[in-house]
Amino acid sequence: MSRFLNERYRKLQAYTPGEQPQGRKYIKLNTNESPYPPGPGVLAAVNSSEAADLRLYSDPESRALKEKLAGLYGMKPENIYVSNGSDDILNFAFMAFAGDGTKVMFPEISYGFYEVFADLYGIDCEKVPLREDFSIDPDDYVCQNKMIVIANPNAPTGKTLEVCEIEKIVSTNPDHIVLIDEAYVDFGAESCAELVHKYENLLVVQTFSKSRSMAGARLGFAIADAALISDLEKIKFSTNPYNVNRLTAAAGIAAIEENDYYMENCRKIAATRQRTAEALTEMGFDVIPSRANFIFVRSEKIDGGEYYRRLRERGILVRHFDREKISQYNRITIGTDQEMDQLLKVTKEIIGEAENEKE
Ligand code: PMP
Repeated sequence: MSRFLNERYRKLQAYTPGEQPQGRKYIKLNTNESPYPPGPGVLAAVNSSEAADLRLYSDPESRALKEKLAGLYGMKPENIYVSNGSDDILNFAFMAFAGDGTKVMFPEISYGFYEVFADLYGIDCEKVPLREDFSIDPDDYVCQNKMIVIANPNAPTGKTLEVCEIEKIVSTNPDHIVLIDEAYVDFGAESCAELVHKYENLLVVQTFSKSRSMAGARLGFAIADAALISDLEKIKFSTNPYNVNRLTAAAGIAAIEENDYYMENCRKIAATRQRTAEALTEMGFDVIPSRANFIFVRSEKIDGGEYYRRLRERGILVRHFDREKISQYNRITIGTDQEMDQLLKVTKEIIGEAENEKE
């Protein structure tokens, strides 16, 4: 830290992203990326004349991309906001809708960035414990008088709320924003986006990073009442108006045109998830039922950190959070069938070793 850093950022604990290894080749199951590449339309779009046009700024209003998204989700373009990854939208939402006396609440075990944004803007936050089985109790969020942020499915558990439960939260907090982070919704959960026609306080956030295989392109979008979208636009135009670059916008449009390809990949991932969960359960793991592209698992036969390290030594990266209540767990992204077969094979060896060591 230099002596120039503003006092208010000195204690800020930045978010730690999952590792992106640059040297050794790992089976990478640590950051919930898709194991499948973008479709042919996306590859064509970023190889085309769009690259030659990089000398020009991108459309700051992202009109073509918004129209495509609006068509796909049965919205009007004014109900859609696009940004540089969904983290960017979360950032803007915390900046725009909390603070100045408005607190924010979110589940105690959830996406770690929520707390970082709250700290960044000096917003008081309330972290709500999950139930024993790691599910969210919707009643904890009813009539709260605070901004509410919930990932659905939740991360890193993969557990979901039903749309009617979300509606109860949205309808009982009419004077505050309820942000539903649907980063993983396409892998088997139900989106609550339709509710934006009914509630002006609902902000639904999604991303192209997971189900549409474009984590590296950085493209997120929000669906909400037009007035909320214009608030986000205001923040964007006050920070970085061109925050969706030309190549990413072209890739996003192409991805929507070949949406069936991605939805088929999501079905494949859900089937692989099911198979992997069953095999791990058979080996004695507790596997939390997940509707996301990852599973959260633990075994009494091996310490969570140890399982993480031993997988890593054998070339498989997963995510371990050294945090109270979840340090015995690992979050494993669902890869291809082949990758998961390797994970299962290596896990069997590791558990065998751990059992021998105990004897
Ligand atoms: N929300 C949740 C729950 C996530 O897990 C992630 C991925 N780290 C994000 C948002 C951000 O995704 P992106 O910025 O790539 O759209």
